[in-house]
Amino acid sequence: MDTNRICNFNAGPAVLPEPVLKEIQEGFLDFQGCCMSIVEISHRSELFDGVINDAVARTKRLLNIGDDYHVLFLQGGASLQFAMIPMNFLADGRSADYVNTGTWSTKAIKEAKIQNKAHNVVASSEDRNFAYIPKDIRFNPDATYAHITSNNTIKGTQWTGFPDTGGAPLVADMSSDFMSRPIDMSKFGMIYAGAQKNIGPAGVCMVVIRDDMLKLIPDGLPTMLDYRTHVEKNSMFNTPPCFSIYSVQLVLKWIEETVGGLDEMDKLNRKKADLLYGFMDESSFYKPTADTDSRSLMNVTFRLPSEDLEKKFVADAATNGLGGLKGHRSVGGCRASIYNAATYQDVEKLVDFMKVFEKNNG
Ligand SMILES: *Cc1c(COP(=O)(O)O)cnc(C)c1O
Repeated sequence: MDTNRICNFNAGPAVLPEPVLKEIQEGFLDFQGCCMSIVEISHRSELFDGVINDAVARTKRLLNIGDDYHVLFLQGGASLQFAMIPMNFLADGRSADYVNTGTWSTKAIKEAKIQNKAHNVVASSEDRNFAYIPKDIRFNPDATYAHITSNNTIKGTQWTGFPDTGGAPLVADMSSDFMSRPIDMSKFGMIYAGAQKNIGPAGVCMVVIRDDMLKLIPDGLPTMLDYRTHVEKNSMFNTPPCFSIYSVQLVLKWIEETVGGLDEMDKLNRKKADLLYGFMDESSFYKPTADTDSRSLMNVTFRLPSEDLEKKFVADAATNGLGGLKGHRSVGGCRASIYNAATYQDVEKLVDFMKVFEKNNG
């Protein structure tokens, strides 16, 4: 690793695999011998078609899905999906279930509310500040979809398995754990993920949508807000965020070819999380905030004995080459985001630092 690069525990935008950054750098002035940069070529060119089609093909292979799913690259972030989902799938007479597991779920629910779309919040973990994932949820079997947030970036919780809805297809915000583990896609009508947490730079949101979901869409939506537009045009109804899509393509290639697929990715992510949680479970100085059975493998949230110590911890860590450990401003505390591209060595360095800090301040 270049000596001036830190161990990056930012929550998003976040660390990317160093080989991918190098590949971007090396090809930046002359993309595949075309004597132009990836940011200078037409999105209608054969070269860019190659990029986006390869990204789609890799996504389908990694998720083990066929042509009954469409892979889209959209703008507006996961936040626009919060609004598009009820807009597209909740025509008159339809209703959706939502599970509220934190800040992002709350925002998703708000967008259904704003549009006066029928919806039920069938479970929430708000009673304990979202420190857990609700269990034994009674879903409405006739719900058009059941919306969950697979990983709660701010509260540090994650669904370990996915709930049985009794019929309704799951729609999941996977922004902060997309491509971190294998998933059984047959349960999902749609998943979406802002790229900037786990699979690329900001500027693109990936959507994987099952073909039958498109039949729910009413006519009369604004063109850009209708999923069918983007399915029909292979995400190129208008100019797509070419550079972000290209970067995602390289990250997907890295997951497939260097890491060895999602089973291997999952193993590595578990190993990193086990090291960090395992250390904290032995310590009385650091306290993880999430219930043990709901802990996120991606965003490890924890507290120290006082806010002053937390401040010092974040500052001292930064001077030791460990960045991004401050908790989200809405919850305080500390958070180590250990996404796909964070290495085991990064987490080892963090744990070593935590030991020393505890010894000096505990
Ligand atoms: C960051 C994040 C979002 C917001 O994503 P944008 O792309 O900024 O709109 C939504 N959901 C989750 C789970 C996130 O982590």
